[in-house]
Amino acid sequence: MKHFDVVVVGGGHAGVEAALASARRGAKTALVTFRRADLGVMSCNPAIGGIGKGHLVREIDALDGMMGLAADYAGIQFRLLNRSRGPAVQGPRVQADRQRYSAFAQEYVAKVENLTLVEGEVTDLVVVGNRVRGIQLADGARVDASAVVLTTGTFLGGVIHIGNERLPAGRRGANASVSLATRLREMAFRVGRLKTGTPARLDGRTIDWERVGRQDGDSRATMMSFLNRAPVARQISCGVTQTNERTHEIIQKNIHLSAMHAGFIEGVGPRYCPSVEDKVTRFSDKSSHNIFLEPEGLDCDTVYPNGISTSLPRDVQKAFLETISGLESVRIQEFGYAIEYDYIDPRTLDSTLAVSGVDGLFLAGQINGTTGYEEAAAQGLVAGANAAARALGAEELRLTRFDSYIGVMIDDLTTRGVTEPYRMFTSRAEYRLSQRADNADTRLTPIGLAAGMIGAGRADAFLNKCERLNTLRQSFGESEALPCEIEELGVELSKDGKKRSVLDVLGLCAGELEKAETVLKQRFQFELHDLEQLRREAIYQPYLQRQAKDVSALKKSGDVSIPPSFDYDALSSLSSELRAKLKAAKPANVAQAERIEGITPAALVSILARLSLPEAGRKAV
Ligand code: FAD
Repeated sequence: MKHFDVVVVGGGHAGVEAALASARRGAKTALVTFRRADLGVMSCNPAIGGIGKGHLVREIDALDGMMGLAADYAGIQFRLLNRSRGPAVQGPRVQADRQRYSAFAQEYVAKVENLTLVEGEVTDLVVVGNRVRGIQLADGARVDASAVVLTTGTFLGGVIHIGNERLPAGRRGANASVSLATRLREMAFRVGRLKTGTPARLDGRTIDWERVGRQDGDSRATMMSFLNRAPVARQISCGVTQTNERTHEIIQKNIHLSAMHAGFIEGVGPRYCPSVEDKVTRFSDKSSHNIFLEPEGLDCDTVYPNGISTSLPRDVQKAFLETISGLESVRIQEFGYAIEYDYIDPRTLDSTLAVSGVDGLFLAGQINGTTGYEEAAAQGLVAGANAAARALGAEELRLTRFDSYIGVMIDDLTTRGVTEPYRMFTSRAEYRLSQRADNADTRLTPIGLAAGMIGAGRADAFLNKCERLNTLRQSFGESEALPCEIEELGVELSKDGKKRSVLDVLGLCAGELEKAETVLKQRFQFELHDLEQLRREAIYQPYLQRQAKDVSALKKSGDVSIPPSFDYDALSSLSSELRAKLKAAKPANVAQAERIEGITPAALVSILARLSLPEAGRKAV
């Protein structure tokens, strides 16, 4: 029998980051997965990042995770989404070469100290009393551990659906995890069913590329990792085409044959990632929907048609695809399908992703009701770091809504649970002006350093960057902007006679960054990406000061008493679940209320607002 500090079950995006984080903290870690080739597999779209998700990748990177590095290595098209909007809601996205991504993950994991990869199926947990002691493998072997992280993705009781066909599977070509699913149900976990879907894969050689539009990447790539400056793989363009009325007609006519619509699936699917059947029925006023034709790699002919996931029967998939411009003669390599799987109600977890009631057991990824590689990886990192803390007696890693999107996601999951697969959006983060993708390292690398999970290379790079930015910030802040610079940068200032620093003017300069570079290089020395960072900071400075005041007022308000008679029902802005928790806990002051799982800064503000009203005027706030 082997013994490890931590065993991570599952080598998907959550499992890899969990195992790496655990090993980085110094725990002797085993990563157990069906096959070595599982590492870095993208079950669905060949892309990493996007709006909200790009923030998560940068935060993983800031905590020295692997995802950003792998995405940069595999990136064959880089785009900054929401470019025309403010930096707070921009999302870096990479279209990735599948093979390169998983090759990177396999090599990376193989090189890490303290980490052993074990191939096999985990069929059971070893639990003694209320403590997890390890896992049981299908071949009868047992692996002992002080902490276990389950990251089984879509595999628990997974069933694939195409039309009325059903096949037990974790994803196409992979067995489902049936024994473990049965055991978890027997252990009285609160288990539910969710579903998701994927489109057909097309043979790019049979697409008429002349008949489709073209989408290029950005001319200056926005990298995923703070450690990288430029892509290493050859860059490609994607195609864009559309569904049309004929496509919709075929789908409508056959909608009763779709697994998702015929009632064969009990699980709930992601509202924000609808199947083509959902699009055609839910948005019936629209006569076409975009389809992005994304090559899956540099050395393969497979194309992923983004936007048309489906569980219609094969002949219907073929018929509707052939109505689409450019796809008239397309050869289908693999048909689309829906998958239904077990998840565990994440309200059984605390903010370290530990399961209440089973000491030493942690859950991360799709098993917690999320969808997406980034959401999975981010949870994996937190669960792995905390499993290591549990095994080694080290400090826990708790991220909060005040510091990160990861904190927001974990708080949402553990306090509100899920009713559909959960994915990240910028709108979920109350403090998004300060929690930007560009400053994830400033927010989180110091936390990672304190937790002992940042490698020497990244620590050096981070400290050097801070030093460079501090020097430049200081010299821009202390130097008065010259009238010729203000004019050249096209900044209009009110004629109040006030002197403006270069930093002030940079925050007001909306034009091309390269222009600012040319103008300011006449007086200062800097790198373009540092200038870009200071401009983002300068744009948000006035808002951040206000936000920081709110946060600090909130934090200082801990001593404010809450009378036992406080009427939580009058706080219409709180969820009924949160109201019930507050009524049950009856916190004596704001500090106690703040510690209740699920309490959000917005909820505290509404309690404080009501407390500040005179007794007679406490109307619903
Ligand atoms: P996974 O990546 O699923 O990894 C789980 C790992 O656990 C696998 O390596 C598996 O081999 C291993 N494993 C499971 N059980 C055992 C066991 N008992 N013993 C040993 N190893 C085990 N995401 C989106 O964001 N948008 C989408 O549109 C989307 N569509 C999807 C469509 C399909 C058909 C599928 C399958 C997934 C889709 N996803 C989508 C989800 C995305 O793939 C997951 O969110 C992400 O991969 C979850 O990561 P994970 O690490 O939790 O699990």
